[in-house]
Amino acid sequence: MPEKGAVSFGRREPGFAERLVRSIHAGGPISLAHYIAQVNSHYYGTRNPLGAGGDFITAPEISQMFGELTGLCLADVWHRTGMREPPCYVELGPGRGTLAADALRAMQQARLAPLAHFVETSPALRAHQSAAVAHAKFHDDVDTLPTDRPLLVVANEFFDALPIAQAIRTEDGWREVMVGLGEGGALAPLTGERRVDARVPQGLRDAAPGSIHESCVVGATIMMTLARRIARQGGVMIAIDYGYEGPALGDTLQAVRAHTYADVFADPGENDLTAHVDFTLLGNAARQEGLGVHGPVGQGAFLERLGIGARARTLASAQPERAEEIEAARHRLVAPDAMGSLFKVLAVTHPDWPAPEGFA
Ligand code: SAH
Repeated sequence: MPEKGAVSFGRREPGFAERLVRSIHAGGPISLAHYIAQVNSHYYGTRNPLGAGGDFITAPEISQMFGELTGLCLADVWHRTGMREPPCYVELGPGRGTLAADALRAMQQARLAPLAHFVETSPALRAHQSAAVAHAKFHDDVDTLPTDRPLLVVANEFFDALPIAQAIRTEDGWREVMVGLGEGGALAPLTGERRVDARVPQGLRDAAPGSIHESCVVGATIMMTLARRIARQGGVMIAIDYGYEGPALGDTLQAVRAHTYADVFADPGENDLTAHVDFTLLGNAARQEGLGVHGPVGQGAFLERLGIGARARTLASAQPERAEEIEAARHRLVAPDAMGSLFKVLAVTHPDWPAPEGFA
């Protein structure tokens, strides 16, 4: 809005995409990680992308069974430590708050009622999360989480939304992938000047020209910070995501909109940008702080071991008219050709805490 009395000549405010293009035009190319960080901050900050009418759907939105079993898994570990005072339930990027609501309800039935602390940057999604879990406290990042009690941490499809850097192998070593302006002034990836050989693991450095190596420094840093806290305060973290066990080569960056793949560089801020998660990197970050590392195991195996079959039968017998829908959701969460093996589950635990159920 112009100020009162200001004369307007019909100029309009440039939108996010236009501002991004202008700033690259003026200041030169930016790193891919910087591009993803800006684009996703705008994307998540301005909408609720989850559900049938949105851009993508996640496991907790498919069925309440996902959050319930995750909550029961945490409550079970907690009870087996023999501790008394309540811990904190922490969720990273809780989306609509569905997982947290289901997990906290199941935990309560298992005689555990932790405080809820959410790490969430999007104002739009914080509003949904408050509606789902009224007593939740919000944090911009993990640094401000409580320091006086054990942490039961969950992150579903959180690490894939964090910015990654890409290095590309050229005839002349590894270089940073940048985002600049291509033909017609459109955003396009380009090979930067900067040599980044040191970032690529030794065993992969001789790869063929054109090979891509990805690294997620933000993800590793968040994991290290939380691992240090868990080592000091007690606790466990369960991370569920699509990913691989690195080190590996390959370009996994993708854009999704309205449940289909889109161009990573078209319509910035209107598509969800994600990359596959390197579970080895996350596990090693936790191991460095002395934590126990369990998995990754397939989401299907994890949920089966926690009893998703029995839970589905109980729900179906309570609501026979929904039996088919419940079975379809169970299948989607566990089947190898659906989410069961693409999605993996990693747990890290305080060195004295037992391994959570579901990992062996
Ligand atoms: N866990 C939810 C939502 C996954 S989408 C589910 O399974 O349905 C990714 C979530 O992470 C969103 O809530 C998004 O706003 C949040 N997010 C993305 N980048 C973030 C960051 N850097 N810090 C905190 N939250 C972030």
